[in-house]
Order: sequence, then structure tokens, then C-alpha cells
Amino acid sequence: MGATGYFTHSDCLKHDMGPGHPECPARLGAIEDRLLITGLDMALTRREAAPAALADIELAHDRMHVAALRGLTDVLREDMAAGGPPYTNLDPDTAINAYTWDAALRSAGAVIEATDAVIEGEFENAFCAIRPPGHHACRDKAMGFCFFNNVAIAAKHAVERHGLKRVAIVDFDVHHGNGTEDIVAGDDRILMVSFFQHPFFPEGGSQSNAANLVNVPVPAYTKGMDIRELIEMMWIPRLEAFQPELILISAGFDAHREDDMGQLGLVEQDYAWITLRMKDMANRYAKGRIVSCLEGGYNLSALARSVEAHLRVLADV
Ligand SMILES: [Zn+2]
Repeated sequence: MGATGYFTHSDCLKHDMGPGHPECPARLGAIEDRLLITGLDMALTRREAAPAALADIELAHDRMHVAALRGLTDVLREDMAAGGPPYTNLDPDTAINAYTWDAALRSAGAVIEATDAVIEGEFENAFCAIRPPGHHACRDKAMGFCFFNNVAIAAKHAVERHGLKRVAIVDFDVHHGNGTEDIVAGDDRILMVSFFQHPFFPEGGSQSNAANLVNVPVPAYTKGMDIRELIEMMWIPRLEAFQPELILISAGFDAHREDDMGQLGLVEQDYAWITLRMKDMANRYAKGRIVSCLEGGYNLSALARSVEAHLRVLADV
């Protein structure tokens, strides 16, 4: 107890959406390198994730969505065997290769295992170094580099299988977690708090369309100090009133000022501050339980430094 788990799997490195795509395997490599260089890996307990079961994925997704992705993967593999191209595009931003299905199952499997380990007290908290990310994946649709909604699967797993009554999802990715919202809106066992650049991809999100959503849209070029103030004003009172028994984090690091995927101005210290604030909440209400799931973050150096800052707070080193 007190330790931080680090959940990942080598299959997450095999999913690839084509040359030059920003959501690339090198993202996980950059994080791993940073942990080794800084010695932070010594403070973490590493776990290789088992694949999620289809029943796990279907906690958050329609069966047809799951079957469609599996079918497309089978067709792609057959086409490749006949000399066809190694990718199938689902939309202009989002493609599968022959390993996407396996990587997506390992990613969801990592958050399921991390949630089990944290609820059962094996770890105080956990970070899932996973890709593909999840927070744009809707109940019946892949989009925005996402196929299965890892954080929403973890939330449903915690309430439906572990019987938790209140689970919070905290999303600090630069983009609105439209997929998570699609899956959890109206489920009062789950509170979702987020900030995101607006107007921006994937549009929407400017209104909190259900009582369990706290959406904080912010304009481009908002800096970390302003974000901290908004978190104190908008997130914290709702989290205190909700008293979550588990905090799940959609940890995207693309709001970093060096990340040109978005135009917000956060730096490593802001991610450390947000993490510490969430740790305070978790210590007060949730026995310290936090499961953090990697979402975006595309400037490899900024991503690696930000994950380090996040993990130093989680692991208390
Ligand atoms: Zn993002």
C-alpha cells in the first residue's frame, strides 16, 4: 500500500496510424526513456496488462461497435495477406493497422487491472501508459485517434462490478472528452469534470448537458494560472459535494504550451499542481485511490516531462 502501479503492454507500441501521425508509438517510448533517465522507474511497480474481455468493452460500448472494429481488423489482415495496404482509415484522423485491435484491448485491460488493484488496495494509485487513447470514443463510434473509451470502461467497471457508488472522472486533455460525456452523461454514479480549449475539436461541450457533467470551456491561449483558478472555482466544490470513492484521470498532456496540437499554456508545474489537488481530494474521500489513463500529448519532450511531473506527485518522490 502506498505504491504507484505503472500499467502498460508492448502491444500498445504496435498500433500505428501511418507515417507522420502525431499519435505515434514514440510517445510511449519518450515516456519510458524519461522514467529511466530520471530514475523514476525505480519508484513505480510495473505491470504488463492482460487484454480486456469483450464484456469489459461492452460496459461502455454497443456490441455492434465492438464487432465492427473486430471485423474491419479481420478484413485488413486478409487484404494485407493479399498485398494490400497496412492501414484502414475510419475517418481522416483515425486509422487501424493489424495491431490496433490488440492494442485497444490491452489499453482497456490496463485500466481494468489498475482499477482492480487500486480498489483492492494493492496500490494507492496507478498510471496507465497506454495507446490508443480513449476519451473521444463514443458508445457507438471511434473517432479522434480513439477506439474504446478506456476511462469510461474503468468507471463503469468500478460502479457495476465493484459496487462503488460515486466515481469521479477528471479530464485535463486540451480536447473535450466528448466520448466520455456520451457514455456517462446522466449516470449519477459518475461525476465528470473537465476543462478544454473551446471552440476546438471535437466541437460541442460548451454546455454541461447533464447534472453529472462539469464542463469548463476555455479560450485559446489560456494560461496555467487561470486554469488553476477555474479548477478551484468550478471543479473543487463539485468534487467536495460528490465525495468520490475513486478518482479516474483522463490524463492528456496536449494543453502544454509546447504542444502545437492545441493552444493552451500549461507547463509541467501546472500538471503537478492539478495532480496534487486531485490527490488531496482522493485522500479526503477516496482512500487515496486514483487511476490515471494516458490520453493526448504530442510534443514528445513536453509529454515526457509532464508525465514525469504527474508521476512524481502520484508516487510522492
Ligand atoms: Zn487531446
